[in-house]
Amino acid sequence: MAKLFFKYGTVFSAKSLNLIATAHNYQTQGKEVLLLIPKIDTRSDGYVSTRAGFKMPAELIDDDTDIYDLYVSHRKQKDNIDCILVDECQMLKSKHIDQLREIVDEYNTPVICYGLRVSYTLELFDASKRLFELADKLEEIKTVCWFCNNKATHNLKLVDGKPVYEGKPIDIGGLEKYVPVCYHCFKNPKEI
Ligand SMILES: [Zn+2]
Repeated sequence: MAKLFFKYGTVFSAKSLNLIATAHNYQTQGKEVLLLIPKIDTRSDGYVSTRAGFKMPAELIDDDTDIYDLYVSHRKQKDNIDCILVDECQMLKSKHIDQLREIVDEYNTPVICYGLRVSYTLELFDASKRLFELADKLEEIKTVCWFCNNKATHNLKLVDGKPVYEGKPIDIGGLEKYVPVCYHCFKNPKEI
């Protein structure tokens, strides 16, 4: 039976690199993958891209997209889709996660979602919460704290080098910068 996976990590934990490596593995075996990325992520421009310089085209998902319908129409064109890979899944709506769950169960197609667990405001993202509720398998992608050598568990938002703890959970495209941190350094960040 296919499974719904949630592979979560902080910023800078190489989630997109992991996604692209998985897509590459499928493709070298002649298998079809469908890559999805939320349209709200204005950095994406129709691609999953990594800091290491790799990129792959992806379908943009906006708030109104029905991923189930999108998948069915792709299947008609390609005969089969062997795996769905979702980047920045925390920016989806929770209904999108229900649609992905339905695809896994109806079509026996594995779905792997990559994304953040909590926002810089210490809230679970709606889609991440739904994934914790519905996923078959949860896996943490680990990285180290920006300031010390503990495992990073949280995302610290910095504006002009100063920590910011309040605002909209999804906030992209501005002058802010996010760094991966342990909880201690989240509360007591050093000057950078
Ligand atoms: Zn730390």
